[in-house]
Amino acid sequence: MTRHQSAPELVEVPDPVPGPGQVRLRVAAAGACHSDLHLMEWPAEQMVGQGLRLPFTLGHESAGWVDAVGAGVSAVRVGDACAVYGPWGCGHCRACARGAEQYCEVTHGMGGPGLGGDGGMAEYLLVDDVRHLVPLGDLDPVAAAPLTDAGLTPYHAIRKALPLLGPGSTAVVIGAGGLGHLGIQILRAITSARVVAVDVAPGKLVQALALGAHAAVPAGEDAAAAIRAQTVGGLGAQAVFDMVGSAATMATAAAAVGAEGRITVVGLAGGALPFRFGTVPFDVDVSLPYWGTRGELFEVLDLARAGLIRAHVETVPLAGMPAAYDRLRAGDVSGRIVMVP
Ligand code: NAD
Ligand code: ZN
Repeated sequence: MTRHQSAPELVEVPDPVPGPGQVRLRVAAAGACHSDLHLMEWPAEQMVGQGLRLPFTLGHESAGWVDAVGAGVSAVRVGDACAVYGPWGCGHCRACARGAEQYCEVTHGMGGPGLGGDGGMAEYLLVDDVRHLVPLGDLDPVAAAPLTDAGLTPYHAIRKALPLLGPGSTAVVIGAGGLGHLGIQILRAITSARVVAVDVAPGKLVQALALGAHAAVPAGEDAAAAIRAQTVGGLGAQAVFDMVGSAATMATAAAAVGAEGRITVVGLAGGALPFRFGTVPFDVDVSLPYWGTRGELFEVLDLARAGLIRAHVETVPLAGMPAAYDRLRAGDVSGRIVMVP
C-alpha cells in the first residue's frame, strides 16, 4: 500500500536482509483477506490511529520456506516450511506471555507483516523472531497460509464459545467467505453443534453445505426466522458468529440468538448492535475478538494435519493481485485467493 484510500500498487522493493535473531522466508503463499480491503478504504486518520503508517507491503496471512537466518537463530533451518503468526507483540508483556500477542499491551497486535510492517505479498518476507514462525512439517504451505488468519480467527472465536456448543446446540456462521468457510469446518470438527450458514451469495451457501453445514439460509429480512426454525424448540441459536459485521448482519444475529447465547462479531463492516433490554434476549454475551493466540495456531494446523479442515484456495500470481482484490470486493471469490509469487 502506497497511498490512503487507494488500490494497492505493484512496486519493486529491495530483498530484506535478516539481522540478528531475524529470519527471511521465501514466500510460498499469502492470502488476500477482506481486512486488506478495509485498509484500502480507511482514511489516513483511522490508519494512523491504528498505528499503521504507509507505505508497507500487504499480506498478513503467509507461509513459506526459511531462506536465510540472522545471527543467533538456531530453532529453524534453511528450507524449513513455516507458517507466520501475524499479530506481532512485544514478547514481554502478560498477554504475550500467554501467547496472545494479538492483545499485546505494547503493540496491540498491529505493526506485523501486512499491518504496518512489510507483509507476504512479495517474494520474501522478513520475520522479526522465530517465535512468530510455526513449523508446517509436511503441510502444503500454499493451503496453510490462509489458516494463519482465516483459520485462526474463527478458531479463537469458536473456542471461546465452546461451553455453549454441546449436543442440541446451534451455531450460526454469517458470511461463508474466507473466514466463514473455515469457521464452518472448525465448528464441525470440534463441536457437536448444528451448523447454519448464512450468506448473500447462493454459491457460498452451496459450498457451505458441501463443507459440512447442516443448513444454509439466504441473508436478508427473513434470515433470522429461518435460522430460529433450525434451532431446538425455535428458541434461537446458542452462538452466532458474524463474519460480516454490518448493521444488517448484526440485526440478524440479534434476532437469531437465544437467551444466554453469544454473539461474536468478527467482521469489520462497521455496523452497530442495538444492545439494550428488548433488543436481544436475556443474558446474551457479545464479543469482538481479534485474531488468535500462537498456541491456537498450532492447534489449527493440527486440525489441518488431521484432515479435519482444509482451506479452499485459488492461486494468483503477484501481478494479478490488484484485480484479485477487486474480485474479493465484488464477492466473487470462493474460499480464499492466495498470492503465489
Ligand atoms: P470474504 O469477503 O472472504 O467473505 C465475506 C462473506 O460474507 C462473503 O461470502 C460474502 O458473500 C458474505 N456477505 C457479504 N455481505 C453479507 C451479508 N449482508 N449477509 C451475509 N453474508 C454476507 O471476507 P473474509 O476475508 O472472510 O473477512 C470477513 C470479515 O472479517 C471482514 O470484515 C474482515 O475484515 C474481518 N476479519 C476480522 C478479523 C478479526 O480478527 N476480527 C480477522 C480477519 C478478518
Ligand atoms: Zn486478516
